[in-house]
Amino acid sequence: MSIKIIPQVQLEEQNINSVIRQIPLLFYPSPTTLYLHRANRLKELAKNSPFSDYLCFCAQLAQTQADLVSQKPLNKELFEPLNNDLPPLSIENFSLPYSWQDYLKVLLQSSSNLTDQISIVIEQLDKNSIEQLQNKALHLLKGEFHAVDGNEAVFIWSALSVYYSQLASQIKGKAVSENSDKNWLCPVCNSMPVASVIQLGGHNGLRYLHCSLCESEWYVPRVKCTSCDNMKNIEYFSLDSELSATKTECCDACHSYLKIFDQDKDPHIEVIADDIASLILDIKTEEEGFAKSGINPFVFAQ
Ligand SMILES: [Zn+2]
Ligand SMILES: [Zn+2]
Repeated sequence: MSIKIIPQVQLEEQNINSVIRQIPLLFYPSPTTLYLHRANRLKELAKNSPFSDYLCFCAQLAQTQADLVSQKPLNKELFEPLNNDLPPLSIENFSLPYSWQDYLKVLLQSSSNLTDQISIVIEQLDKNSIEQLQNKALHLLKGEFHAVDGNEAVFIWSALSVYYSQLASQIKGKAVSENSDKNWLCPVCNSMPVASVIQLGGHNGLRYLHCSLCESEWYVPRVKCTSCDNMKNIEYFSLDSELSATKTECCDACHSYLKIFDQDKDPHIEVIADDIASLILDIKTEEEGFAKSGINPFVFAQ
């Protein structure tokens, strides 16, 4: 009798084949709960963090996002998606109306009494015309982050997220994320991921990428680079132990990395909140020569 050692990746593929009919490969967001959960998690993480002030600021923004969803819900039927292969909410498929700017106004008002530095950013944004704000939003949606001041981008992206997450939650029918050569971009809105997550309660330990804009999550096999699809020499870094719930997944081929969070190891993890709170792990991973292949909506580097 011979014993065959099945590599971990192959096990994963067998796993997915056996459960593929039972689970969605793409989860649309639940905006009515996700921003509130994020605000609470940020407040909790702020208690023991060197970035406490910034986490409290993010918590306040997330709380306002939650209030917007409950008090000013997007109340219209979703457009008819075009019959093409593009992600339904990609900018090529769905032109951005001006109404997202109503959310921006409220986010700016709710942050106006925080610090002098934030007040300066708000003043800057208030001076923009509707057209200028629209152009900045379009730059960000196209991934042209260098074209917008990073501090302004935090507010603009927060408003866009409230808009897009509600649109995504209205898409009807079960969606399946198809494995393509671009599976590191969101199949719903075509934006970059924040990080990946092994969801609580474990759909057999499958890993999903979390969208930075519309907050959908889509399946990508584990032990595989989410930027270039390489499956060899994937390395993991963590700050404390190998059993840590927060790690960076680093690719030797394209020298990129993204964090991976394991909610089975820590059920309180919220992807965006925990990604900011673990900035020191980013610094350490970058010192090893890797560059992040995702974005966090609260941290737009210039
Ligand atoms: Zn998305
Ligand atoms: Zn890679």
